[in-house]
Amino acid sequence: MTDYPELYLMIAGERLGPHGRATHAVLNPATGETIGQLPLATAEDLDRALATAATGFARWRKSSPHERAAVLNGAARLMRERTEEIARIAVLEQGKTLAEARIEVGMNVGLFEFYAGEVFRLYGRTLVRPEGMRSTVLHEPVGPVAAFAPWNFPIGNPGRKLGAPIAAGCSVIMKAAEETPASALAVLQCLYDAGLPTDVAQAVFGVPDQVSRHLLASPVIRKLSFTGSTVVGRQLAKLALEDFKRTTMELGGHGPVLVFADADLERVLDTVVPQKYRNGGQVCVSPTRFIVEAPVYDAFREGFTERAAALRVGPGLDPQSQVGPLANPRRVEAIDALIREAVAAGARLHTGGERFGNRGFFYLPTVLSDVPQASRIMNEEPFGPVALINRFESEEEMIVEANRLPYGLAAYAWTSDAARQKRLGAAIEAGMVGINTPMIGGSDSPFGGVKWSGHGHEDGPEGVMACLVTKALHEG
Ligand code: NAD
Repeated sequence: MTDYPELYLMIAGERLGPHGRATHAVLNPATGETIGQLPLATAEDLDRALATAATGFARWRKSSPHERAAVLNGAARLMRERTEEIARIAVLEQGKTLAEARIEVGMNVGLFEFYAGEVFRLYGRTLVRPEGMRSTVLHEPVGPVAAFAPWNFPIGNPGRKLGAPIAAGCSVIMKAAEETPASALAVLQCLYDAGLPTDVAQAVFGVPDQVSRHLLASPVIRKLSFTGSTVVGRQLAKLALEDFKRTTMELGGHGPVLVFADADLERVLDTVVPQKYRNGGQVCVSPTRFIVEAPVYDAFREGFTERAAALRVGPGLDPQSQVGPLANPRRVEAIDALIREAVAAGARLHTGGERFGNRGFFYLPTVLSDVPQASRIMNEEPFGPVALINRFESEEEMIVEANRLPYGLAAYAWTSDAARQKRLGAAIEAGMVGINTPMIGGSDSPFGGVKWSGHGHEDGPEGVMACLVTKALHEG
């Protein structure tokens, strides 16, 4: 028995259960067992959600900043109070450790609080004009948003997708991942309990392709916000462009980590190994390609392997576990295939490279080195618990490797040379660069990528600005 909650669609203020609807089985990744049945929206459900979003927008666009801030601050307070309950739900349906889930709740609390302050700072500007004339640049809410949140951060992704439109005065229809619906519903409930009108934010689930096509075909929706793979993002961006809807696309990455011989190697290893295996590596900003300068290559690989092999893999609810299961069977299949192909192509396997246990979706923390550049794992986002360690002779070669892929989300570098730090900061093509730190985000800091990692930002003032359009108003 689990205490996993009932699942529903949240449309027009009503909780709609499975009756007469197709359902999706939600699995516990630690056991593989079904823990819930999620109702999937019909076309009629989606039409009702769209009509409601139009009404919700007409109402919320007129709301005062105090009203919006009260909702966001109130929801933050409720989330803090409900931390244990929400974190536990996330572990049950996504697999991550309870400690990681608690941190995720905390990050979402911080984001709601930051956005609550930001609603008072959506300033425009007044232009210099002759006396008697006034010209103002205003920012207005873009309109109803269709937002798609993936399963890897079942609390944080819905928080981002809901928080920014609400702060900006938009309404939002969110489709969180069908694998992790209850965490998303718990975040939404905090907003409702803090006073958010139910027509301002709604939650639907369904067959992803059908839901996104239906919502994006509607003229009601004025913005698409998507987090997920580059492949799906490209399809959705094309659909949005048909109607010139605004887009925020948080897509895949293949995080390079440049490690120079002058770095403090013990500190680097103590930092990057837990960072690599956080959330089983299912993180878009996960460090993936370790680009290591020749003099420290052997020591780095050995230190990395030793630490990775010592990590305790187990169910997220077990306080001893440091790495939980992967979120779904698809990830286990995908990561296993990528690793096997790389080893067959000549990569050296130092630890891991196999499933763990006889139930659930566990995969051991894996270290590969001397990975051929042409192998698929060096070119496609692995999105799993695998570190790829390769040796390089010079800074120039290391920068070329860092920028080799079409992705540009997060990149990291470790060096004690101040002049090199500046060079790297300028040369690395990524939306977020961490030099001597894994911390590349924060509620006040724009989160987003360049190139195939997408465009637009979440978090920071930029997150709210992305839900606004600009109007120039000239009065004679
Ligand atoms: P996927 O690409 O099918 O799905 C990724 C996410 O997009 C899921 O949440 C899914 O529900 C959603 N999705 C899929 N098709 C959709 C559609 N047509 N319309 C709307 N939403 C849709 O693959 P997956 O197996 O769930 O995840 C695999 C890959 O997705 C990973 O390898 C990784 O590259 C990427 N991913 C990225 C993030 C991120 O934070 N950027 C998060 C989760 C997954």
